[in-house]
Amino acid sequence: MKTAILGAGISGLSLARALVEGGLDRSSVHLFEAASEVGGLCRSKTVEGFTYDVAGGHILYGKDRETIRWMKDCTGGEDAFVTRDRHTRIRFEDRWVSYPFENGLGDLPPEANFDCLKGYVEAWHARQVTGSPAPPEFGKWVQWRFGDGIAKHFMDPYNAKIWKRDLDFLTSDWVAGRVPDAPIEDVLKASIGIRTEGYTHQAIFWYPLDGGFQAISDGIATTVMDRVRVNTPVRELRRTAGGWTVNGEDFDCVVSTLALSDLPQFLTDCPAEVADAMRTLEFNGLVSYLVALDRPQHPDLSWIYLPHESQGPANRITYMSNYSPHMAPEGKTSFLCEVTTRGVGGPPDAQLELDVIDGLAHAGLLSKDEVLFTDHVAVRHAYVVFDALYHARREAIFGWMESADLIPLGRFGRFEYDNSDLCVKKARELASRLLERAASGGAKA
Ligand SMILES: Cc1cc2nc3c(=O)[nH]c(=O)nc-3n(C[C@H](O)[C@H](O)[C@H](O)COP(=O)(O)OP(=O)(O)OC[C@H]3O[C@@H](n4cnc5c(N)ncnc54)[C@H](O)[C@@H]3O)c2cc1C
Repeated sequence: MKTAILGAGISGLSLARALVEGGLDRSSVHLFEAASEVGGLCRSKTVEGFTYDVAGGHILYGKDRETIRWMKDCTGGEDAFVTRDRHTRIRFEDRWVSYPFENGLGDLPPEANFDCLKGYVEAWHARQVTGSPAPPEFGKWVQWRFGDGIAKHFMDPYNAKIWKRDLDFLTSDWVAGRVPDAPIEDVLKASIGIRTEGYTHQAIFWYPLDGGFQAISDGIATTVMDRVRVNTPVRELRRTAGGWTVNGEDFDCVVSTLALSDLPQFLTDCPAEVADAMRTLEFNGLVSYLVALDRPQHPDLSWIYLPHESQGPANRITYMSNYSPHMAPEGKTSFLCEVTTRGVGGPPDAQLELDVIDGLAHAGLLSKDEVLFTDHVAVRHAYVVFDALYHARREAIFGWMESADLIPLGRFGRFEYDNSDLCVKKARELASRLLERAASGGAKA
């Protein structure tokens, strides 16, 4: 079964590896990759001894132990990783506030603490008395769930920075399990200064000792690298009687990890309404800025959130050099700052970088004379934006792809908020289905 895998990010690589490990003739597996190297969003870059992840700080964690084990084994086993305790904070004026915010109210200035507690209790009381259901709009959901103090001091400004849209443009259904949800007792305790544990998810994470997060995609690639055609963008996808052609070459089976929103550029005979649904899927891009610092060490933090405009355009900073001792030269440290763009965004200009540094200086996180140099990478697709038409669009797209036997996979190949562990899990599950299909003659099940 001659199989084309479009894109050699962690999804495409995991699928290829699992197919080959599962016994599919390796010469029948072909990966098309536009970039000069594999890894996609799970790539890292090293400049003058400083390594950073190109799509914002990445950590390895996840609920599915078998998947994590597979990823670690592909990368060289347990010894190839460092284990880290997650230490995250919110920068609020000159204070460090525990994360999640509602577990850190006692760290706030008294006035803000009072606003947040009052709003939280009022919102909680309103839900008890009226039994009101969760509003479908994200902005209204924030008020309903956290009250107006937490909305004003953290949730609204922080989310405005990331999403770059009116918060009611987003829906609230994607937040379950993503936005931490503390019991009211914990919030009351936190506000009067009794520490509560808060969010235990990702309490521990792993990170490759060498090479940044890319070590994982490189590790997965080792057994299939000869099957990857780098510098080979997909330019045309055409349906045939027995399958598909990719750039004019025949295949029995095609799996696409390319962003759904890009597919209409390549598809020759996609119905107009499906192409329209693909094109109008909403997403945000990202610019990742490395800031190399002439400073021996910084606080034991993993990453921090910057909710306020005065802190500059970055919404999150990863303390990259805390992830592994090999991320920066001895005696130096590094920050990785994330700035989202609405959709693809334009090329990042010099002013944006100056604003990032000014914001960090204003937030008291660095002094400008410590900055050795900066570097940046822009990624087109970073965050799926869940708007009111998200489900309807995907239904139309997947209905057609299913009927056309074009198989979607990956974070933007499916437009799902999946981290690398889930991408790997889904790729390996798909491999099992494709191996069954190959064993039964290659026809679509
Ligand atoms: C800010 C941020 C933070 C994240 N943090 C974490 C984290 O801490 N932990 C974690 O596990 N995950 C994290 N993730 C998620 C993780 O990066 C993704 O889930 C994963 O990398 C997606 O892999 P993929 O292979 O599905 O897609 P991609 O990596 O996007 O791969 C798609 C590939 O297709 C290629 N391509 C595009 N167009 C073409 C074309 N025309 N022809 C051929 N090839 C093409 C691209 O070059 C790319 O290599 C984070 C993501 C972001 C944006």
